[in-house]
Amino acid sequence: MKTLKDFNFKNKKALIRVDFNVPLNDQFEVTDATRIQAAKSTITSILAQEGSCVLMSHLGRPKGFQEEFSLGHIVNVASEILGVQVKFVSDCIGPKVEEAVANLKAGEILLLENLRFYEEEKKGAIDFSEKLSKFGDIYVNDAFGTAHRAHASTTIIAQFFQEEKCFGNLLAREIESIDKVLNNSEKPVLAILGGAKVSSKITVIENILDKVDHLIIGGGMSFTFIKAQGGQIGNSICEDDKMELALDILEQAKAKGVAVHIPVDVVAADDFSNDAKTQTIDITEIPNGWEGVDAGPKSRANFDAVVNQCKTILWNGPLGVFEMESFAGGTIALGNSIDNATKNGAFSLVGGGDSVAAVKQFGFADKVSYVSTGGGAMLEMLEGKTLPGIQAILKS
Ligand code: AMP
Repeated sequence: MKTLKDFNFKNKKALIRVDFNVPLNDQFEVTDATRIQAAKSTITSILAQEGSCVLMSHLGRPKGFQEEFSLGHIVNVASEILGVQVKFVSDCIGPKVEEAVANLKAGEILLLENLRFYEEEKKGAIDFSEKLSKFGDIYVNDAFGTAHRAHASTTIIAQFFQEEKCFGNLLAREIESIDKVLNNSEKPVLAILGGAKVSSKITVIENILDKVDHLIIGGGMSFTFIKAQGGQIGNSICEDDKMELALDILEQAKAKGVAVHIPVDVVAADDFSNDAKTQTIDITEIPNGWEGVDAGPKSRANFDAVVNQCKTILWNGPLGVFEMESFAGGTIALGNSIDNATKNGAFSLVGGGDSVAAVKQFGFADKVSYVSTGGGAMLEMLEGKTLPGIQAILKS
């Protein structure tokens, strides 16, 4: 796996695919700069070696050129974070860019305009990719969030660099962290899958059954398992058409020696609202008119014991409707358990979908070993897929 360490960037132009797809408010101000911060390590390492950086990214989902999606809006914030005034060019291909790249000196950063102003980016057009490839001596992919897309700047471009291509520090760390969970893990290994739907996680479950010793199934998707086993789940969310599959997953887990842990009690609400009336009851005895919205105290204690006996922990998906304060308790308790296990030496990885939002909201981001920056990309890796953006760097 080639990384920055394999190259000397002195007087070289690094063409870096970063993920600067940050949220902006009505005034086009950056409201969360995490992704820019995440790219800092790669950029500053290259500048320290007296190289220069040409940055490519997308922002949002524009249809052709739309000023509101201009990466020009983020230049000041990026300059502040990177500690260097970032130069900006209002296109990503063409003569203006060629000139700006030619004039770029060692120690400087040039940000190109939103790649998705051209539909060729998402289509992975070869000629567009080739044009982009002219803007650097070494291609660096540091955008995990788009590594599962075979777009021009994330994948197709790599074929124009025989050997001069590598992973940036962020992408390398993402790959290593997932590898540490799936392939090089210290046992016992635990996967915690929560969130709303079984259907969105089936392939993940099937792939990780071969890798883990313990599996916690929590959140909304646990009700499909409970109902499939004959429990009464009241008005809780359930995918009836996935009940057979749920039973099959439990069978597979048994055959593979994986211990499956499902909530035994729940906080049930009489309405899907923060101010609903609630009661804590056995998860198999939820009356009609009530729905399970969070893990109950016995479940939290059971999960705490499992988490604290494991050395490798993967967490994807909340244990309840954490967006509502009244139903965030189970997710927060789980975060505390993982925090504790991590302090005691476990490796903990959080990622995929909504988990990152939950972890940030409750202040656990610094307490776990690694928080993945890519939702969809992380889920696809957990499904056992090799992502096109990663494959493209590995291939010479
Ligand atoms: P996912 O994106 O699949 O990880 O699902 C996350 C969503 O699952 C969050 O928006 C949670 O509110 C939701 N969720 C978790 N537990 C439940 C539950 N018991 N009932 C309804 N939604 C839930």
